[in-house]
Amino acid sequence: MSNLLFPTPEPSTIAIQNSDQVFPVRRIYCIGRNYADHAIEMGHDPDKEPPFFFQKNTDNINTSGQFPYPSMSQDVHFEMELVIALHQGGKNIPLENALDHVYGYALGLDMTRRDLQGQMKKMGRPWEIGKAFEHSAPISNIYPINQVGHLTHGNIQLKVNGEKRQQGDLNQMIWKTPEMISYLSKYYELAPGDLIMSGTPAGVGAIQVGDQLEGEIEGLGKLEVLVV
Ligand code: MN
Repeated sequence: MSNLLFPTPEPSTIAIQNSDQVFPVRRIYCIGRNYADHAIEMGHDPDKEPPFFFQKNTDNINTSGQFPYPSMSQDVHFEMELVIALHQGGKNIPLENALDHVYGYALGLDMTRRDLQGQMKKMGRPWEIGKAFEHSAPISNIYPINQVGHLTHGNIQLKVNGEKRQQGDLNQMIWKTPEMISYLSKYYELAPGDLIMSGTPAGVGAIQVGDQLEGEIEGLGKLEVLVV
């Protein structure tokens, strides 16, 4: 018998490719400006400064194939990203062991209310309101490393209505997967179920209702999302 005041919500889960099991999500860490050409398009110096992270809410995970245009924004952007899924956690994880913590990879979209994010940046306030909102983390199935290996290079791109808008290579990431895991684990205790959204290449832009987004990462499948 439970003494919970009300029932806990269903956990956010993500399908695992070629498996009946699902991946339960604990936290979603997102790195900012991890591709030099995107840092430049956002008006920043691409030099390797220490990484910075923000979080989305676990229940922002969206596996529906649809992205409802969010409230309170006139400028919602797509950011196509490789997502790293962890099945082991820890504190102060050394670089050499960091990849052992990776269960697999997925394609994800870091949907962003850019106008709200920009206002908050200008005022020196937290920009969570621009990043962590309902349905803001569309994601594909997770591809376990025993099916796809570790992804260190390869094409990452996003088409909108069939037209290529974002393109880069995973090897352009300023902070690599082991570095992100090791760095995060100095500040947080990582745990199984944590996701890391690894940043977006150049070409981010605004969406409209009716747009069909089609992300691709070499070695993984596709992520197709309709804006509704
Ligand atoms: Mn992002």
